[in-house]
Amino acid sequence: MVNSEILDPEEQRVANLTDDLISSHPPESTSEVDFLGAQFDAGLAWVHFPEGHGGLGVSPKLQRIVIEKIRTAGGPTGGAKNPIGYGMCAPAVLTHGTEEQKELLRPLFTNEHIWCQMFSEPGAGSDVASLAMKAERDGDEWILNGQKVWTTLAHISSYGLVIARSDPDMPKHKGITAFIVDMSAPGVEVRPLRQMTGEAEFNEVYLTDARIPDSMRLDEVGRGWAVSITTLMNERVSIGGATPPRGSGPIAELVRIWNENGNGNPVTRDKVATLWAQAEVNRLTNIRASQLRKVGTPGPEGSFAKLAMAELNKAIYDLIIDILGAEGMLFSTYEFVRPTHALFSHDTHKNFLRARANSIEGGTSEVLRNIIGERVLGLPGDIRTDKAVPWKEVPRN
Ligand SMILES: Cc1cc2nc3c(=O)[nH]c(=O)nc-3n(C[C@H](O)[C@H](O)[C@H](O)COP(=O)(O)OP(=O)(O)OC[C@H]3O[C@@H](n4cnc5c(N)ncnc54)[C@H](O)[C@@H]3O)c2cc1C
Repeated sequence: MVNSEILDPEEQRVANLTDDLISSHPPESTSEVDFLGAQFDAGLAWVHFPEGHGGLGVSPKLQRIVIEKIRTAGGPTGGAKNPIGYGMCAPAVLTHGTEEQKELLRPLFTNEHIWCQMFSEPGAGSDVASLAMKAERDGDEWILNGQKVWTTLAHISSYGLVIARSDPDMPKHKGITAFIVDMSAPGVEVRPLRQMTGEAEFNEVYLTDARIPDSMRLDEVGRGWAVSITTLMNERVSIGGATPPRGSGPIAELVRIWNENGNGNPVTRDKVATLWAQAEVNRLTNIRASQLRKVGTPGPEGSFAKLAMAELNKAIYDLIIDILGAEGMLFSTYEFVRPTHALFSHDTHKNFLRARANSIEGGTSEVLRNIIGERVLGLPGDIRTDKAVPWKEVPRN
């Protein structure tokens, strides 16, 4: 518990500011938007962001003090409604945006603006640098044409972060530029994609002669790959790097279902205990990584965390369905819904199906193993024949 710890001066400052926030904006009588706005103004949105942009310029590990105090006081945890905005778009805008673009951070944090991330295309997923969406300059504007796919929450988003091909004569990583897109602008069309859970949490997005002012270009022309790296590294920490209380989340669901349906089978009990230990190892590893994390773009710990979380979640839900036996095969509702946020539900069967996506979204497990092999273990890399070739000369299907 934060309250019983001896705090250093910086921790004490964060704790005091959070106490002030809670007493000046009591959660029970303050609207969520007002509370989150005040939290942003106090520098407690993302404490590692600079002052004036929702932070205090201190270590990201101090965010835990804010989260625990607000949770204890019954205040809002805004990120659940805007996971792509909080986890990926905000760090990208902060790192690569102009001062005018950084003005968008406050309404992002209050969830007045939901954000989405438009990177993947039908022909560019793991190898997203091979993307084909066209960005052509026209005076003070850019004209974008092409298709994005698997765009989570695009249907409720006000803004989207998009990467597009601005120079097909350059090699694939170099000819990409990033933009912030107003999702209500003419030429932006969002179409639902239904998943096996019945829901359409993600979408196809078509840009047809969509005009984007140059003032909404993120970073320099041709620096889109750097924006992508910032976004993807933060995405992996955001998806896999959570440090929930011990024994909570999917592993709690497994233990509950084992207690209710396990029939004391010692082999199954051994499997439950093994997965519980793995969940705890992941949790402790994530705590250690968050303690070591510096201000700036996260490093390979995000790839580890995301890989471990994805594979563990699938194993947990596989075992849950095994324990449930024939009942595990029932799926109560296949109703078509367009969710307003992308979170695990309380429906075990839905969670089993949704867990399949964990090892695809934010980088597949195979690709993360490649990254760990190359960047952490120093193993020989994939053979990349197209790295130095102009993008337009690389064969595409
Ligand atoms: C639930 C969900 C939400 C998503 N949300 C978003 C979003 O909001 N925005 C967005 O831009 N994208 C989003 N995505 C897309 C996601 O980033 C891609 O699906 C992912 O990067 C994989 O790309 P792909 O589907 O094209 O598969 P491919 O890249 O075609 O991969 C197919 C298979 O080949 C394997 N493979 C590919 N390359 C290699 C390699 N070099 N070595 C070994 N194996 C390899 C893969 O592991 C996989 O098994 C989402 C996906 C899901 C499932």
